[in-house]
Amino acid sequence: MPSADHPDLPGAPHFHYRDGELWVEDLPVAELARRYGTPLFVYSLAALRAAAAQWQQALAGREALVCYALKANSTLAIVQALAQAGCGADIVSGGELARALRSGVPPQRIVFSGVGKTRAEMRAALQAGIACFNVESMAELDVLDAVARELGVKAAVSLRVNPDVDARTHPYISTGLRDNKFGIPHDEAQAAYRYAASRPGLRVVGIDCHIGSQITSVEPYLDALDRVLDLVEALQRDGIALHHLDLGGGLGIEYHGETPPSPAALVQALLQRLDARGHGHRRLLFEPGRSLVGNAGICVTEVLYTKPGTSKHFLIVDAAMNDLPRPAMYEAYHAIVPVRPRQDVAAHAWDVVGPVCESGDWLGRNRRLAAEAGDLLAIGSAGAYCMSMASHYNTRGKAAEVLVSGAREQLIRARETVADLWRLEHALALT
Ligand SMILES: *Cc1c(COP(=O)(O)O)cnc(C)c1O
Repeated sequence: MPSADHPDLPGAPHFHYRDGELWVEDLPVAELARRYGTPLFVYSLAALRAAAAQWQQALAGREALVCYALKANSTLAIVQALAQAGCGADIVSGGELARALRSGVPPQRIVFSGVGKTRAEMRAALQAGIACFNVESMAELDVLDAVARELGVKAAVSLRVNPDVDARTHPYISTGLRDNKFGIPHDEAQAAYRYAASRPGLRVVGIDCHIGSQITSVEPYLDALDRVLDLVEALQRDGIALHHLDLGGGLGIEYHGETPPSPAALVQALLQRLDARGHGHRRLLFEPGRSLVGNAGICVTEVLYTKPGTSKHFLIVDAAMNDLPRPAMYEAYHAIVPVRPRQDVAAHAWDVVGPVCESGDWLGRNRRLAAEAGDLLAIGSAGAYCMSMASHYNTRGKAAEVLVSGAREQLIRARETVADLWRLEHALALT
């Protein structure tokens, strides 16, 4: 039985049991579910602020910028909260550029990553005056150069180098190996920088690397940093001075027993290495996504049916893979706990599954829970890569989102209706 001293949601101290039920800050989760329905994403503003503060404090006294990677959760109020906490933005599309600007992120705190930027997206970002493009290929350098010259400006660029280090994470979220589609290979980077420096529409300002996601140790970061610094030194000998180092995002969180370094421990190890190699004066950028928002949110779902079987027993809930795609996509683990733990029902090992017509639609397997139809469950670590990856599959509207601060809550995204879903469709007119 979970208790107040042992929160059962890993890494999420702002969600805790009090008086036999789960609370978020100073509000009972069940009360929010009653008011807004399920499935419901519930975020803690204090948790968002605490996560931002951890990064900021670790970098205090340095010239540094923490650019929140919007793709982890791009809901406007979430981005606004992090912008107010002093974060910039790491964006990967024109849509995310618009969201960052709309959320009050100053353009000079925005960096633009991604392998497939379109000309229109480049134009919009140049017109907004963003800080830097993280360029991922030679072909992109040429297009960006041309677009910038058409506008009569110079685009600030970093090259995203692929350091060929193994982040030891899931293959779908590892990005720093030679065979990934990301970045410019380490041994081609020097030539690429020389080329970039020669283009009239480009201004070389930094270097960037991002080696993967859900990384749970410091070593891959130190390996990547060493490789990046080797390049910085070689470029310096070539007369190409880099103003900033962008070390990407990727820091993992606790979903289920992982013990990732804290942002403070990671930053400290990196600063030590930078200082030891004589690069401590350089401006530093980071692009954390998951570590800022992942454990600041849960998804609340209602048990619709219990379906005992011969070998497997299913708890069918009203949240599904369209709300929480990570288990189906990466076989990811999310903690699942009761909102009101029950003593009067026997616990069984259940597979927790959604209503979507796919066998891949599961949220947790073999979870020991005491629950009946009508009970509420909380799915942990749902702040990152859940709502932002949600889809309308099976014509299911996206869930509502609520942000809590103390004993107050605000609906930050209303539940989608069927009318929202077919708003852009046209009835058949051809005969
Ligand atoms: C996804 C991504 C991030 C954020 O990764 P997290 O694991 O969420 O911290 C940062 N930078 C780039 C280029 C990314 O693609």
